Amino acid sequence: MNIALIAHDRKKEMLTNFCVAYKNVFENHKLYATGTTGKVVSEATGLKTNRFLSGPLGGDQQIGALIAEDKMDLVLFFRDPLLAQPHEPDITALLRLCDVHNIPVATNIATAEVLITGLKEGLIDWRKLSKK
Ligand code: PGA
Repeated sequence: MNIALIAHDRKKEMLTNFCVAYKNVFENHKLYATGTTGKVVSEATGLKTNRFLSGPLGGDQQIGALIAEDKMDLVLFFRDPLLAQPHEPDITALLRLCDVHNIPVATNIATAEVLITGLKEGLIDWRKLSKK
């Protein structure tokens, strides 16, 4: 499965810890990330991430493009709801595309836990079937 990782600055540590905790799950999948998130996660966990541009410079849109092409299976987007982001329109667009294409997306760690548990248990395998 292709998994996208994005975390706003004040959520990067939380996402990194999350990736450490579920490294055994993540290492069986292909990871994509916005620039800084990918760098931080890869350095801390040793997991390989395919990195795009930094979010504010277009990275969210690059991930959105893969979602539009049905090439992303799961999105973990640890947003900071208490800080205005300069690229808010890009964030809205990315989440909209997840809804358009029915892509499982978590915007906080509680939902991410549920999705990763579901991924581990094969509950997202319908994504594979839908692409055949
Ligand atoms: P970053 O981008 O991983 O490059 O920090 C994330 C974002 O702010 O959307």
